[in-house]
Amino acid sequence: MNQDLMEKIVALSKRRGFIYPGSEIYGGLANTYDYGPLGTELLRNIRNLWWKYFVQERSDMVGLDSSIISHHRVWEASGHVAGFADAMVDCRNCKARMRADQLIENFKGEKVEGKSPEDLDKIILENDDIVCPNCHKHEFTKVRKFNLLFPVQLGIVEGEGGEAYLRGETAQGIFINFKNVADSTRVRLPFGIAQIGKSFRNEITPGNSIFRTIEFEQGEIEYFFDPDSSTWEELFEKWKGQIWNFVTQELGVKAENVKWREHDDRERSFYSKKTEDLEYNFPFGFKELWGLAYRTNYDLTNHSEVSKQDLTIVDPMTNKKILPHVIEPAVGLNRLLLMILVDAYTQEENRIVLKLDPKLAPYKLAVFPLVANKPELLDKARSIYDSLKPKFMTAWDDRGNIGKRYLSQDEAGTPYAVTIDYQTLEDDTVTIRDRDTASQERIRVSEISSYVMDNLT
Ligand code: ATP
Repeated sequence: MNQDLMEKIVALSKRRGFIYPGSEIYGGLANTYDYGPLGTELLRNIRNLWWKYFVQERSDMVGLDSSIISHHRVWEASGHVAGFADAMVDCRNCKARMRADQLIENFKGEKVEGKSPEDLDKIILENDDIVCPNCHKHEFTKVRKFNLLFPVQLGIVEGEGGEAYLRGETAQGIFINFKNVADSTRVRLPFGIAQIGKSFRNEITPGNSIFRTIEFEQGEIEYFFDPDSSTWEELFEKWKGQIWNFVTQELGVKAENVKWREHDDRERSFYSKKTEDLEYNFPFGFKELWGLAYRTNYDLTNHSEVSKQDLTIVDPMTNKKILPHVIEPAVGLNRLLLMILVDAYTQEENRIVLKLDPKLAPYKLAVFPLVANKPELLDKARSIYDSLKPKFMTAWDDRGNIGKRYLSQDEAGTPYAVTIDYQTLEDDTVTIRDRDTASQERIRVSEISSYVMDNLT
């Protein structure tokens, strides 16, 4: 574990307004975080890029925005009420509660996800070197299952059939609307429904910043197909390629930091024929970033049975009734954000630079008047700033010396900084500085937009 790097990234995130601990002035609330001005922009850029790549640019995808609060039967049908549980263990000494599989994996380095609570108990009992990460004692309770779904009580009187849940994943919203989408659009199999939105899980494993939180944003796709006319193995490989391209090309993440890992029979859900995770090399190890699963028609079958609705669609050519199968790519956008910060964080001799892909940078450029006490310079800089703001997220800074202002923008990942100086007043040119090389060139004011734009595509 590269604790030092993780601490530096967490500190920078707080100092520069990417990520703040949740409810901080009240002592914090475990596993919740808020996004500051820079984090909000970065998250929005990730969201928009995801949507553009997986929905806008494709002809076989449509979007959905289903509600966060959903009927309890949705989650009974999906299997989450009965089975969406983590095996937990408590430290008898300091009372910390943790996931048993993660506790073991951190000490033994082997994957134990999917093992029974009894098996996990046995491993913990037999290995004295597995100790509480908080107090370092080996005094654990028995492993118990703990449901992750958040129940909500609707209405004012308890127990009147108002039970609902905050969704534990966005995917179920897609399944329960599958028929609506098929009936109200002109989609034809194979096609996908995409959704971005908040999901909630009662996670109690602390640490590692936003990697695992109780409220998080998912980007999920259900790609529906008829198994008689499409081969799932081929679709699966295609999706692997698209996810890989999105991460390494669109988000610009270094390919050597990502790898696919296939779930074995024990780890994989029983209804899934194949599951692979794309893992990223976080400072705390290679961890799941993106899950890709072939889920057969398990979910649509369950929802048909429990709701007693016919969710099949009819092939207009053959009149065949089909209950499609799905391939599900599912990612956490907050996890993407953490990955992007880790991947972009660069410590150079005299500065820290976030080498973000310009498409992702919260601010595309910064505008500086050379000095703040010359009205003519200030006016000119202001008018340039005002003309750029409608086109790009543009930062303004007139405090301190220029060198410090550059360093400040380097930490925020701003790709360009434009300085308005005395020469600007004479010939309408400015200096533009490149974040990564720190080199500067002089260009005309009228060229600033196209200069920046050329690097955003
Ligand atoms: P884990 O086993 O790590 O709890 P999972 O396999 O249950 O995760 P999925 O249900 O496959 O996760 O969720 C899809 C994606 O959503 C994950 O790959 C991850 O990026 C993201 N995700 C899941 N849980 C969380 C969480 N608590 N906080 C942030 N992101 C999450």
